[in-house]
Amino acid sequence: MTFMKIPSNNHRLESGAGVRNGVMLQAFEWFLDDDGKHYERITHLAYTWMRMGITSVWLPPASKGAGGIHDVGYGVYDLYDLGEFDQKGSIRTKYGTLADLRNAVRILHAAAMQVIGDIVLNHRMGGDTKEAVFVTPVSSNNRLCPIGEMYAAEAYTGFTFPGRQNKYSSFAWDHSCFTGVDYAEPGKDHAIYLLDGKQWGKNVDQEYGNYDYLMGCDVDLCNPRILHELTHWAQWFLQKTHEDGFRLDAVKHMDASFFPQLLRQVRERSGKEVYAVGEYWNSNIDALLHYLDETEGCMDLFDVPLHFHFVSASRSCGTFDMRTLFDNTLTSIDPMHSVTFVDNHDTQPEQSLESWVDGWFKASAYAFILLREAGYPCVFWGDLYGIPHSGIGPVTELPLLLRLRKYCAYGIEHDYLDDPHIIGFTREGTECIPGSGIAVLCTNALGGSKSMYVGKAFAEKTFRCIIGGQADVSVDANGIATFCVRDGGLSIYIPVSSPQTYIARFRQSLSELIRFSFHSIPAYCMSLLNHALKG
Ligand code: CA
Repeated sequence: MTFMKIPSNNHRLESGAGVRNGVMLQAFEWFLDDDGKHYERITHLAYTWMRMGITSVWLPPASKGAGGIHDVGYGVYDLYDLGEFDQKGSIRTKYGTLADLRNAVRILHAAAMQVIGDIVLNHRMGGDTKEAVFVTPVSSNNRLCPIGEMYAAEAYTGFTFPGRQNKYSSFAWDHSCFTGVDYAEPGKDHAIYLLDGKQWGKNVDQEYGNYDYLMGCDVDLCNPRILHELTHWAQWFLQKTHEDGFRLDAVKHMDASFFPQLLRQVRERSGKEVYAVGEYWNSNIDALLHYLDETEGCMDLFDVPLHFHFVSASRSCGTFDMRTLFDNTLTSIDPMHSVTFVDNHDTQPEQSLESWVDGWFKASAYAFILLREAGYPCVFWGDLYGIPHSGIGPVTELPLLLRLRKYCAYGIEHDYLDDPHIIGFTREGTECIPGSGIAVLCTNALGGSKSMYVGKAFAEKTFRCIIGGQADVSVDANGIATFCVRDGGLSIYIPVSSPQTYIARFRQSLSELIRFSFHSIPAYCMSLLNHALKG
């Protein structure tokens, strides 16, 4: 059977009837409360998100993790336990019960949003039984290099899920299902052991010689029994939750042959498009392009190189060359497969891939992913609501930037990525969306000005600055105006036809956040939002 290549962009809700300029929301951060109320919180926020212009919501990993209610979801124990079985100390997960999850999906759908499930298929943690195995320790710096003889050991590779009693699947996981483990008795904790008779997947990231192994019990994805079982699970998951697509965790640690097979079968059997975006965490564009090629374009990828450019721009004390912001990014080379983002649950402070974009540059970074044509933007919960654990407030411009994406960011784009510091772009707008059109200017150093073409349709008209505190500018007879930006700032201008309406909508969107979130948002968010409203 050959795989029919469908550009994965077709699976985006933004291509649906009446939906323009789609936006994904990552609806969690790492340090949310373990209160089991997050699905309920999402249910309460759905209407607000719809009004903001969010068109799809990426939910946290739903399956029971080894850490029970404290597990963010990436330490997956039982894929079939979505908060339904008394395992690892509770029925619910960190986020709630299966019933809460299903209700959240129902409400998000009612608010016209697509729902994307975060699925973790690379590894398992918290095994139920110890098994006798033979292991060979390998170097953590080169996993192809043994650092000792093979020996008899015991490892927690038996997963029998006694709390579930074979409901939905009787598949029992044992050591034959895994390639390697990080714990074997006798032996050191946090070492890497290759199981006897196994080899690492060949088509994986080449860092550390072979980056198949990430953590826990590494699933042997080249085993046809495993492919069959995980395909069965993925179909079951979509049927059980009614979610519409997947965010695929840790794909650089998984053999590239795996997802094309799984997604093809799930799409064929479900008869649905089933959107997919993979997390391939590598700042090298060649690694991303190679993976897209190997996986036959069956998924989008997060634009990790662009994220690191945002980090550099925000942290280099004005020495970053802003002309290179989009150089060697997925967004510039293969925009139809690019999901753009500023930060996520792994890049936030104290996390494994910490690489946080500094606060002063956040609004500029979001302007570059939300207001330009290329890429499918993803907004992070921690930027929308802040991260109280780390004392980080929300990006207060975000609700307005989302409004600008929804109402203004259309039409032909003109780039002015032509100065080491002050760069900008414009959109001409489109006749079918009255009031559309936008001009954006930002700098990572001293302020200044730049003349930019906004379109002949705006000749002799006025543009008003809605972010950045600059005076109105007049467009000349050729459709050109001179826009200004302050030191380290961001300026956004829109046609003066209806700026008061947009300002009113901005105020309204913040009021909505407060009104509709009263019973669901923690007190810290309320105070931050109240502060934003006053500001
Ligand atoms: Ca792996």
